[in-house]
Amino acid sequence: MMYCPKCRESLGDDIKICPFCRHKITDYERKLIEDARRKEEEKALEEENNKAETVGRVRVICFIALLSIGLIVLFTFFILMHLDRMQQAVAVLTGGYVFLGLMVLYLIFVKKINDCPHCGRFLYRNYGTNCQWCGKRIR
Ligand SMILES: [Zn+2]
Ligand SMILES: [Zn+2]
Repeated sequence: MMYCPKCRESLGDDIKICPFCRHKITDYERKLIEDARRKEEEKALEEENNKAETVGRVRVICFIALLSIGLIVLFTFFILMHLDRMQQAVAVLTGGYVFLGLMVLYLIFVKKINDCPHCGRFLYRNYGTNCQWCGKRIR
């Protein structure tokens, strides 16, 4: 598939004369069109790779976060076993508040990375390739 350089109608690859405007497509024009298309494909591929890289990075961050949380929980239980009742109550309450604060931060973070880059609205449960609000491509 390519486009007539004169009238912009889409043409088959091997067409020599545009059936819409009768423009004769020269070898030079064909080469220009192919170069432009190749550049566009390379750009799309690069964008795809960048996105995959971002997803990979987010996965690593999530894994490290989960691992840290696991270690913190284990450590907390270890400490709680060595405290008296009053200290245990204070520790559990403090821990609860810290946990709530972290949850709020996490939700803000999730909202931030899930906003549509075009219209800024929250992409709730959107696993497709287009924004459900503005219809533009998001992945
Ligand atoms: Zn044409
Ligand atoms: Zn949008």
